[in-house]
Amino acid sequence: MEPPSSPASASPCDEAGLYQHLVDAHCHIHEDLDFSPACWATLDRLQTRHLAVMGWRESNWDHLERLLESPWNGRQDTLASPSTARPGHIGGQTALTAPTNDTDALAVHGRILPGFGLHPWATEPTVAQGPQGDRILCPPSSDPITPFVLPVELQAVLDAMPWLGRLRRLLERYPQAIVGEIGLDRLAVDLSTQKLYDYPCQTLVFVRQWDLAIEYGRPVSVHCVKAADPLYKWVRERVQTYRRTLKQRKQRRAHPDGPAARENEDLTDPVPVRVMMHSYSGSVDILRQILKLPGGYGRRFYFSFSATINARSPQTNARMAAVPLDRLLIETDVCDPAEVDHNMLTIARRMAQVKELPLDQMVKQLRLNSAEFFRVADPTPT
Ligand SMILES: [Zn+2]
Repeated sequence: MEPPSSPASASPCDEAGLYQHLVDAHCHIHEDLDFSPACWATLDRLQTRHLAVMGWRESNWDHLERLLESPWNGRQDTLASPSTARPGHIGGQTALTAPTNDTDALAVHGRILPGFGLHPWATEPTVAQGPQGDRILCPPSSDPITPFVLPVELQAVLDAMPWLGRLRRLLERYPQAIVGEIGLDRLAVDLSTQKLYDYPCQTLVFVRQWDLAIEYGRPVSVHCVKAADPLYKWVRERVQTYRRTLKQRKQRRAHPDGPAARENEDLTDPVPVRVMMHSYSGSVDILRQILKLPGGYGRRFYFSFSATINARSPQTNARMAAVPLDRLLIETDVCDPAEVDHNMLTIARRMAQVKELPLDQMVKQLRLNSAEFFRVADPTPT
C-alpha cells in the first residue's frame, strides 16, 4: 500500500505529465530571443504547453509577431480569420461570448496566446512621439479619479498617435490576441531619469487601451503596482455611471411624455470582457471589493500569481485564498524561456497548498480557467 501523499505533492513522473496542462498566463519569452538555432533549441525544451506572451512596448511587438508566426508556435488555421473577427458591440450590450461546452478552448491556439499593449513603463516615450512630437500630460492630482479623465481637446491628439493605429491593426490581424500588458505603476523608477514613471501619462494610455479592449471585445492583462485602490475606484465609478444611465433610459421609456430619450446615443460597456490582474500585489480588501463590483462586473476579473513576483510577500497566501477557484491563474512573468517550467510548478504547488487540492486537480482547474480567460470570441452572425 502506498503511503498517503500530501495534497499538493506529485511524483516527478506525474509532474512531467502536468506540463501538458500548464498555461503560463503572463510572460515575455519573446523579449530576448535572437532567433538563432540555440534559441529555438531552448524553446524546444520548454514543456509548459501554452504561454501567454505579452508584447509590452512598441519596439518588441515585431518580435512577438515573429514568434507567433513561427513553425514552433504550431498551426492556427482553426482560428477565426481576421475578416470574421469583428470588434465588440458598443451600444449597451457586452461583447461577452456564449458559454462554451468545449472545455479546452485553448486547442484552437498555437502554443502562444499573444497580447499586445503598452506597459506603464513604456508610455512616456511613446506618447512623447506623437505626430508633432506631442506630449500629453494631465495635471497631477490627489483625487484618484481625476488622472483617468482626459480633457476632450487632448483625446483627438491621443487618438491620432501612430502607436494606437498600430495596436488596432495588430488586434485585427490576430483575433486571438488580448490587450496587454497594460497598467499602472506608482512604485517603479525610470532608470534613465531616476524618477517615478509619470503617473498621469500612464493613466491616459491605460484608459485608451482599456477602451480599445472593450471596443474589440478582448480580455486585458493588467499590471497594477501600488495602484489597486485608484484603479478599483475608477472602475467602480464607470460601472455606477453605466448602470445609472441604463436605469434612466428605462425610466424615460416608461414615461414617454418626459424629456426626449436619446436612445440612439452609444453607451459603452464599462469593463472589458475579462480582466486579468497579473501578479496581483494589492490588498485582500481591494481584491474582495473588485470581486463584488455591482451588476456582475466583478465576475469578469481574474487574479494571477507568480513565483517570481508574489512568492516573497507574506500576503500572497491570503490573496490566493480570497479568490474563487474559477478565477485563479498562474504565470511566470519571465523573459527567459529556460525559467518558465520550474517557476510554473513552484507557483502551482503553492496554490494547490493554499486551496488544499491535489496538485494535478489544481493544474486542471487552472487550465479550465485559462481556457475561459483566453477564449477566442465566436464570430458574430450577420
Ligand atoms: Zn509582465
